[in-house]
Amino acid sequence: MAELLGIFWLTRLTSRLAVSKGYSKWYAALVPLMWITTEFTAMFLMQVFVPDADFVLLMFVGVAGGAVGGAIVYWRMRLRVPQGAAVVMPAAGTAAPGAPAPPVTQAPGGSQALAGYCEQCGTNTWLTPEGACERGHDADSVSGVYWALRR
Ligand SMILES: [Zn+2]
Repeated sequence: MAELLGIFWLTRLTSRLAVSKGYSKWYAALVPLMWITTEFTAMFLMQVFVPDADFVLLMFVGVAGGAVGGAIVYWRMRLRVPQGAAVVMPAAGTAAPGAPAPPVTQAPGGSQALAGYCEQCGTNTWLTPEGACERGHDADSVSGVYWALRR
């Protein structure tokens, strides 16, 4: 009974981890599969190499082997890289006016600055922290604001 709870718990743990990393929760189905496979393997090896072991020891080694098998599935998911991590920012001057702003992300090794389309300039410009055009036009003239990497 305790073993069933162990399998159930580890399967749920793996399922949550898989979903949080952007993988299918069905990856967790490998946990009971691996558990049972390694459990029977461990019990089989015990019967081959320690034929006079008593039943309690046999069960203990079997369950321990199963737990190791399940834990391997969990650890393999832990070591995986999350899916869909990188987002590439467009440079200022490429976004069309009124285009939806790309998501705000922190780019490594560069400073982010606000950019947007200025009606007075007729092009995309860098913005002040207040959201106004860097060339002196106020924020009412600016639309399509987005973050971009300023080199
Ligand atoms: Zn301007």
